[in-house]
Amino acid sequence: MNKTDLNLFNELTKELIEDEKNHPVVSPISINDVFDKLNLELDIDPCNEQAFTQALRSLVMNTPRTATKKFFNQLFGGRNSKSTLGELLSVILNNSMYTYKVGGPMIAIEQVIIKSIIKLAGYNEEAHGTISTGGSMANYMALIMARDHHDKEIKLNGVKNNLTIYTSDQSHYSINKNASFAGIGRSNVRYIKTNDAGEMRVDELEKQILSDIDKGYQPVFINATIGTTVLGAIDSLEEISDIGSRFKIWVHADAAFYGSMLFSEKYRDLLKGLHLTDSFCMNAHKLLSTPISCSLIFTKHKSCLYYSFISEANYLFQGESDDWNPGKISFQCGRRNDALKLWTLWKSVGTSGLGEMIDQEFYLADLAREYIRSNDNYTLHNFDNALTICFNYKNIPAEQLCEKLYEDAQIMVGYGQFKDVRFIRLVSVNSSNQKEDVLEFFERLEACADKYF
Ligand SMILES: *Cc1c(COP(=O)(O)O)cnc(C)c1O
Repeated sequence: MNKTDLNLFNELTKELIEDEKNHPVVSPISINDVFDKLNLELDIDPCNEQAFTQALRSLVMNTPRTATKKFFNQLFGGRNSKSTLGELLSVILNNSMYTYKVGGPMIAIEQVIIKSIIKLAGYNEEAHGTISTGGSMANYMALIMARDHHDKEIKLNGVKNNLTIYTSDQSHYSINKNASFAGIGRSNVRYIKTNDAGEMRVDELEKQILSDIDKGYQPVFINATIGTTVLGAIDSLEEISDIGSRFKIWVHADAAFYGSMLFSEKYRDLLKGLHLTDSFCMNAHKLLSTPISCSLIFTKHKSCLYYSFISEANYLFQGESDDWNPGKISFQCGRRNDALKLWTLWKSVGTSGLGEMIDQEFYLADLAREYIRSNDNYTLHNFDNALTICFNYKNIPAEQLCEKLYEDAQIMVGYGQFKDVRFIRLVSVNSSNQKEDVLEFFERLEACADKYF
């Protein structure tokens, strides 16, 4: 990277971070105006340096700000400094994490992370894992392992029987997509009803499995969601794993959202039963605020990870043993270094520091719930122990209030729905937030509601 661009990077970053303090939410540019307001079109001729800088600057300054204290829109947010440092360095180094020859000690870093999380999860030394391109992909890898574990022939000859998979009606949409990618088919996904808290009903799960077996289907995969996207509900891993072992079905925990709770001594219990599963995933870019993406997939059965994903390629995998060539068990060939950003964070704050991040997010979530419960203008729609807080204010339609908050550049927050109720979903995933940030969230929301409704 040349000096001019390095300087420009520093300049733009400084400017952005400075501006974020005063304008934590950018005024949105409407889709109709985006090409008129910004210089985005690509030309045959080169752009002179000044015009280039100008175009880049306005692009950066007009992009939605996800790292500020007013971003509550999705299950990620914040900008952890140490982790960002790691991410920037991995871009500069630009290794591909398929072989030790090309990744070097970065492969060792990935191994350290995987081993350490396996230990926290209570899996034994037969376990293994890898970093995937995202939670959806991690869930896909788990499904492929489950499918191949059920029938070793499928890898060679394709799916011949009617396989079924099980997940709750509150689970992430990747489960549905993955069913088609895996050759199982979307209509063979069984959506199990949830209770009032949004947790999978295990009695319904068992009933459905029995009925499917009776009809000649072969159940291969149960997905338990640990932190549903809307309500933040947790399916019972103990009960679901019990069903899994009775019927010999692979149990996967989609812990993309809540998996990082493993780091907190105080909240680890919410993941109880994790050690009973066959696989689980977690997204460090959610509760740990690493840059996107940092997703991990683990399985108790290392042999299954190898069986499903291994491919020989002697032009690539030369010399080292399999464990040092993680490209052998990954979906893609070239692999970004998503390990370093988690390592820089973990190394600097320790496991206890990661735990404190989770604890802070719960502290803020509890604070928000307390505020809502003590104010008659609000209705709370979910329960304690969740990092999403679902509520309505004065019966104002949630989607309209969210839109006004966005248009007025006050807060970025989204809405969700459970059964027939639509509500605002405040998420607490930014551990750098403080008590006053939560209070200001409500202040701005109430001011906006008074102004428009
Ligand atoms: C975020 C999330 C996913 C998807 O992860 P991506 O990295 O966005 O693909 C899957 N499941 C749950 C429960 C999630 O919260």
